[in-house]
Amino acid sequence: MKALPDGRDKNAEERKYLDECHRTIRGRPDVEAILDSESFFDSTQRSEHDAWDEIYKSVWIVHHTEIKGSEITSALRDHLASLQNENCCYCWQPLLKGGYSRQIEHVLPRAVYGRFSFHFWNVAVACERCNRIKRKKGYQPVSATLKDYPDHSYFTDYFHPRFHAHKKHIAFTEVACADYRYIVYVGQTMQGRKLVEDVLTDAALEMTRESTDAEIHAAIERIRAGARKHGTAAVDAIRQFEAALREAIDQGAC
Ligand SMILES: [Zn+2]
Repeated sequence: MKALPDGRDKNAEERKYLDECHRTIRGRPDVEAILDSESFFDSTQRSEHDAWDEIYKSVWIVHHTEIKGSEITSALRDHLASLQNENCCYCWQPLLKGGYSRQIEHVLPRAVYGRFSFHFWNVAVACERCNRIKRKKGYQPVSATLKDYPDHSYFTDYFHPRFHAHKKHIAFTEVACADYRYIVYVGQTMQGRKLVEDVLTDAALEMTRESTDAEIHAAIERIRAGARKHGTAAVDAIRQFEAALREAIDQGAC
């Protein structure tokens, strides 16, 4: 893999993960050896077999200490979520804490790319909604015979949450009042536009709280149409309006 976008250092990010991620796991120094043996950073050593579930259920005994696969995947999830500032890697809404609300997202799907199911650069954390919607939609196809994980230059059409900075590719803002909530997502790049088309338009609809007020409904329809027509300029206009509104309210309160 070549260097990452924005001058990021691939090796430094892998090292940071190893240094920080497993502090809470018993026998931490041995976790690195386990990850090495599972080719977590080097998919050329792996078979096509999807091993994610097996690793989750595995238990290693190292120096009479038990290390569970579930502890490793849990620490991985926490590390990835912190990289995303505890937001979903796609909709960028705050990740909820419990149950199935912080799901491991396999960017290249496990069912097709088993080799990459347990690979550092193929996993992110998504909310249940985005994970479900994205599962039904497309992803950047790469050669099925590719052994090494593709570098960021492969992902020309689709957003890759580990390689691409969310805010550079997707702009969004929220239109909300007491009985209405709608989130406007606009892609700023080809990859961002594809994510909006495939995932975020449906996600925004699920997050919408509809109003029965005909005037509000019509206004929101105009905002939707404006976002489709004007892209990021529409998002900027909504933000400016909100800022002016807040300022007016503040001045009124004084
Ligand atoms: Zn999401």
